[in-house]
Amino acid sequence: MATPTPVCPDCSQPMTHFIAQSSGRPYMKCYDCNILRAERDTRIPNCNCGMTAKLRTSRTQHNYGRKFRGCGKAVSDTTKCDFFLWA
Ligand SMILES: [Zn+2]
Ligand SMILES: [Zn+2]
Repeated sequence: MATPTPVCPDCSQPMTHFIAQSSGRPYMKCYDCNILRAERDTRIPNCNCGMTAKLRTSRTQHNYGRKFRGCGKAVSDTTKCDFFLWA
């Protein structure tokens, strides 16, 4: 049985195994998003609604541009939860 290919949580494209030359540690790389992820971090958390938490970018003054995961519902959805996790 083949191991399922991990997919990028942001663009759903298959990710590629990548060994960091500096540390020799395995990572998954998405060439579409140009992001590296530690293999253990490829699991996407669910928000409190049970939806896949969406990757967002912080726009607050203190953490401008920092990535985090928030509720999977649309920002305009008033029923969204206050799930929050730094990515
Ligand atoms: Zn991607
Ligand atoms: Zn939610």
